[in-house]
Amino acid sequence: MFCPNCKSLLRPDGEELVCNRCDYRRPIDPTVGSMSRNELEDDLREVPVFSDLDTMPIDESQFCPKCNNQGAYWHLRQTRSADEATTRFYRCTKCKHSWREYS
Ligand SMILES: [Zn+2]
Ligand SMILES: [Zn+2]
Repeated sequence: MFCPNCKSLLRPDGEELVCNRCDYRRPIDPTVGSMSRNELEDDLREVPVFSDLDTMPIDESQFCPKCNNQGAYWHLRQTRSADEATTRFYRCTKCKHSWREYS
């Protein structure tokens, strides 16, 4: 990554890339930052893989919080303790946005 002003190399500083020569700074690209890598891993740990969408049940009463589409694939996941309620995961049939519902 190079500074658009002075073409110097940008260096990471927290969640931003900063220029060594001028005071240009920009947020780190969400696909490369270590922070977002951790978030991605969290996602993979929390949300089950919706791989078999053809075989997954669809809840027609759910609305996607992102695109407002009606209808979402759903998946139940048991939490570690039997005392805890199960968590329902949804995935929009239209935009593929995933979310979960705590019961
Ligand atoms: Zn610069
Ligand atoms: Zn959606």
